[in-house]
Amino acid sequence: FNNIGAAVGVYALIHVMMADVEEISSLEADLRKSLDRDDFYLVYQPQVTSSGQVIGAEALIRWLHPKLGVVPPGEFIPLAERTGVIVPLGMWVLERACEQLAIWAQNPHTAKLTLSVNVSALQFRQAGFLTDTKILVSETGVDPSRLKLELTESALVKDMDDIVHKMDALKSVGIGFSLDDFGTGYSSLNYLKRLPLDQLKIDQSFVRDVLTVPSDASIARMVISLGKSMGFTVIAEGVETQGQREFLMQNGCHIFQGYLFSKPLQITQFDAYVAERTVA
Ligand code: C2E
Ligand code: MG
Ligand code: MG
Ligand code: MG
Repeated sequence: FNNIGAAVGVYALIHVMMADVEEISSLEADLRKSLDRDDFYLVYQPQVTSSGQVIGAEALIRWLHPKLGVVPPGEFIPLAERTGVIVPLGMWVLERACEQLAIWAQNPHTAKLTLSVNVSALQFRQAGFLTDTKILVSETGVDPSRLKLELTESALVKDMDDIVHKMDALKSVGIGFSLDDFGTGYSSLNYLKRLPLDQLKIDQSFVRDVLTVPSDASIARMVISLGKSMGFTVIAEGVETQGQREFLMQNGCHIFQGYLFSKPLQITQFDAYVAERTVA
C-alpha cells in the first residue's frame, strides 16, 4: 500500500507541476498576445520635494489581462525578462512615456515634470537600445532632460565599458539616469565612480523600518551622504509615514516617493493631483 501511496503521490505531484508549466507557458503566450493588443497601461507615482512640490513621476506598467484583470508587474516582469518579451515591452513603455512627456510639455502645470522609466538589464544591453531611444526622443520632440532612466545594479554588473559608453551617449543628449533599488544588488561601490548617474534611489526595504531598525537607519543615512557627496540627487521610495519622511529629510534626502504622498495613479488622476498642488 505504501508503494501505491507513493506512486499516487508522485503522480499527483507531476500533475501539479505540469499544470504549473502550462499556466506559465499560457501566461507567456498571453503576454505576447497582449503586446499586440495593447493590453498594457502606465500608472504614474508622484515624486515630491522636501517642500512638497511635485517635480515628476515614476511610470509603472500594469497589465490588463483579458481574463485575469489587472496583473501587477511583480508577477509578469520576471516572466517577460526570462522570455525576452521585456525587449519589445520595455520599448512600448518608453514610447508611451515619451508620448506622455510630449503631452505634458503643452501645459504649463506639467511642462517641467520629469518622468522616470524602469529599464530592464536585458533591454538596456540590446545593441539597438541606444539608437532606438535617441530616435524615439527626437521623433516625439521631447526635452530629453525630462526623461530619466531607472537602472538596477543587475544592469551594471556585466560589460561595464559597454554600459558606461551607452550611458555617456544618452547623457550627452540630456537623458538622466537613476540607480534604482540601491543597496539591494551585488555590485561593489567601485562602479559608482565610473557611472554617469544623476540620482540614487534608496530602496524601500531600507525605508520601511528606518525608524525602528538601527541598521536600516544607518544604511539610509549612508546612501544619502554617499549620493550627495558624489553630486547625485537622492530619492527615497516606499515612503509611507510622516516619521519616515522626517527622518530622511533631516538626513538630507532630496526627493520622496511613496504612499504617504500618493499611490501610482492613472494619468487623469495624476494630472489632477498635480493641478491641485500647483500654484496658478
Ligand atoms: P520599482 O521600480 O522599485 O518601483 C517601486 C514599486 O514600489 C512600485 O511597485 C510601486 O507601486 C511600489 N510603491 C511605491 N510606493 C510605495 C509605498 O509607499 N509602499 C509600498 N509598499 N510600495 C510602494 P509596482 O508598480 O508593483 O512595480 C514593482 C516593480 O516592477 C518595480 O519596482 C520595477 O522593478 C518593476 N516595473 C514596474 N514597471 C516596469 C516597467 O515599465 N519596466 C520594467 N522593466 N520594470 C517595471
Ligand atoms: Mg523604479
Ligand atoms: Mg525601486
Ligand atoms: Mg524597489
